[in-house]
Amino acid sequence: MNLSQHLKHPVFKVCAQICHENGWEAYVVGGYVRDLILERPSKDIDIVVVGSGMELAEKTGEKLRVKKVSLFKNFGTAHFRYKDIDVEFVGARKESYSRDSRKPVVENGTLQDDQFRRDFTINALAISLSKDNFGEVIDPFNGLEDLEKGIIRTPLDPAQTYSDDPLRMMRAIRFATQLDFKIESKSLQAILENSERLDIISKERIVDELNKIILAKEPSRGFKLLFSTRLLHRFFPEMVALQGIETISGKSHKDNFYHTLEVLDNVCMHSDNLWLRWAAILHDIAKPPTKRFDERVGWTFHGHEDLGARMTPRIFKHLKLPLDHKMKYVQKLVRLHLRPISLVKGNVTDSAVRRLLFEAGDDIEDLMLLCNADITSKNEFKVVKYRKNFEMVSQKLKDVEEKDRVRNFQPPVSGEVIMQTFGLGPCAEIGIIKTRIKDAILEGEIPNEYEEAFNYMLAMADELKLKRVSSEK
Ligand code: ATP
Ligand code: MG
Repeated sequence: MNLSQHLKHPVFKVCAQICHENGWEAYVVGGYVRDLILERPSKDIDIVVVGSGMELAEKTGEKLRVKKVSLFKNFGTAHFRYKDIDVEFVGARKESYSRDSRKPVVENGTLQDDQFRRDFTINALAISLSKDNFGEVIDPFNGLEDLEKGIIRTPLDPAQTYSDDPLRMMRAIRFATQLDFKIESKSLQAILENSERLDIISKERIVDELNKIILAKEPSRGFKLLFSTRLLHRFFPEMVALQGIETISGKSHKDNFYHTLEVLDNVCMHSDNLWLRWAAILHDIAKPPTKRFDERVGWTFHGHEDLGARMTPRIFKHLKLPLDHKMKYVQKLVRLHLRPISLVKGNVTDSAVRRLLFEAGDDIEDLMLLCNADITSKNEFKVVKYRKNFEMVSQKLKDVEEKDRVRNFQPPVSGEVIMQTFGLGPCAEIGIIKTRIKDAILEGEIPNEYEEAFNYMLAMADELKLKRVSSEK
């Protein structure tokens, strides 16, 4: 196979020219080659040089007039950005591993040595940048055939490959999910046998791969593989605990692991937001610890939304996910995920809708999306009925928001006005008054307007033993 027609990027021509002048050999390798053949977009180019990667990078960068070529002398690699693509140069290497580290001993090697150290056959393809066979694909492990058939396979013995660098087990599942490929059965078996080795990998690297799985089109495929290979058990036991069905007195509850995956895939059909996808993963996470059986009512999971929200920061911390507003957003969606559906089931009062709008704020659309995705049942009739009621609630939310604007609620009477009116310094009463006004608005006793809120406050004054000292409004 020759791909010279597809090597349009100027970096390839320039590299080839410089190699020719200096008698060097260079190859495009890894993800770029794989994605070129699969016709997927890629953001980075990896070039392997038999010789000094740094020298080739410097000369290529100079010719392309890139502003800065970064050299990493310790690693023998170099990098520059040309237009919006990252180009990485590395000398061909040979690697050997010891048992308790994923850091190999590295020596200079040939192209073939370099292909041998790669994780999967589809990632070990190289394209020559030499003048005499420019564009030729060098495929020592039948990676082209695996690309065609959609198979993830390691060039060397899978048990050795995964034991050497256990991160590759996560990568296998990540590529299988992203590319919709199958992992060869020998590989799957080796992952299962080596799953405990994942413990030597940092959480950051594991979660990097996990997030790529979550961002795929159908993440459930990846989670099912993580579960069946027992990798998930190593870093996310709370999710593993969702799996299983229990039956007492002939009554069963649903398998919450597979339910969660269905909800996740549903969300993915409508949103690429990684954090909304995380909210789907965590929405029922507290079902196992809140599960109870009652002869009369059957299975219950009372309070799982609140406990789930309380578990969220712990899980984020453990997985080294950010603890900033993104965590807060996920936590809020977990806490509120039952609210729209309880509106659907009960009768929808304006005040319940206002309260929900107030609490969800700008995340109301995402909450509704999550909630809609959460409607899964084997009973088609039930699903249709729920969805219809759900539409009704959505419409009601729109109507009430238009009328009462409580979504980004700002108190109509400020603390300053309260202090001025009653001649107060900062004190507890101000908070009490503000909360009472807010509640009156949300309950629909008064409209969300200054004048009405001000009068409501005056009516409260007696009860709180406050005297008006200013006549200003
Ligand atoms: P993407 O960029 O879409 O994540 P990629 O295949 O380019 O996919 P990178 O992590 O950028 O993945 O790695 C580039 C190449 O380096 C891979 O294609 C593979 O050949 C090799 N590689 C990366 N990580 C490993 C690893 N842990 N073990 C062996 N080879 C690896
Ligand atoms: Mg890459």
